[in-house]
Amino acid sequence: SISPDQYQQAVDEAYAKFKNVKEGANADYIPILASVPSDMFGVVIITRDGEVYSAGEQKYEFSIQSVSKPFTASLIMAEQGPKTLREKIGVEPTGLPFNSKIALEIYEDRSVNPLVNAGAIAAVSLVEADSEKERWKKVLGNIEAYAGRELTVLEEVYDSEYETAWSNRGIANLLYNYGRLYSDPEEALRVYTRQCSIGINTHDLAMMGATLANEGVNPVTGKKVLDKEDVPELLAIMATAGFYDESGEWMYSAGLPAKTGVGGGIVAVVPGKFAIATFAPPLNPAGNSVKGLKAISYISGKLGVGLYGPN
Ligand code: GLU
Repeated sequence: SISPDQYQQAVDEAYAKFKNVKEGANADYIPILASVPSDMFGVVIITRDGEVYSAGEQKYEFSIQSVSKPFTASLIMAEQGPKTLREKIGVEPTGLPFNSKIALEIYEDRSVNPLVNAGAIAAVSLVEADSEKERWKKVLGNIEAYAGRELTVLEEVYDSEYETAWSNRGIANLLYNYGRLYSDPEEALRVYTRQCSIGINTHDLAMMGATLANEGVNPVTGKKVLDKEDVPELLAIMATAGFYDESGEWMYSAGLPAKTGVGGGIVAVVPGKFAIATFAPPLNPAGNSVKGLKAISYISGKLGVGLYGPN
């Protein structure tokens, strides 16, 4: 097993090695994301027992963005079972960019993946709810249960994204046209955009991952968020689609299920053991945090925890 010193050393080294990396740029298609300080960098490991190892920025609240997606997919699994997720949304990676509309046209059953925008908007629409308020409450409550604390929406991020959400609105409408959206499209778009605007810090993100590492039970609050039987399916989706059209590259270098977001967050899970979260806003062209992906790949290699063998 890995000792506390080994964990801390891996985190410290990853932080020191990559903190001065200058590649990448903040996302700017959501205008406000361009103004988040680019040099912030945080690395946190939380084990399934709730032990924390960290370096760098831990408190700054950034928007969760697409890192929210597997967690809302988990809500669908918890409410309606993995079969419904597969049938009503689909689990095949698209191999296309996160906001692809082509993916909606080329797959005959209009099946999408819950970790790209189309499938994530569909997931929000599939949550059982009689009103928009109830839909939102369930989505937020689920992410709070993973993080183990109350969270708030970064309203400026929400406004900035919703005002410019033409691409996602197009996706929602197309899905609706094909019978693959399960609520009013504008309602799904609003709840999805709010979900992406939830503020979290690096520690929260590691706790969310640690809940998955701990078979669906939050290590600190003890609350069960997802059935143990459903965790492997969720991690499988993260392994195959967590890095969008760069998922193959990612598995090649890190060997771990993970999810990234354009706010600069990444969470990776070592099943049954621990989670690694990073925050660093500059992204590569595929929309993945440059420092984050380097740091997690480094830690995975250093601790020898890649799923397919030490790399
Ligand atoms: N809210 C963002 C969008 O819908 C999320 C994208 C991401 O984090 O990759 O474009």
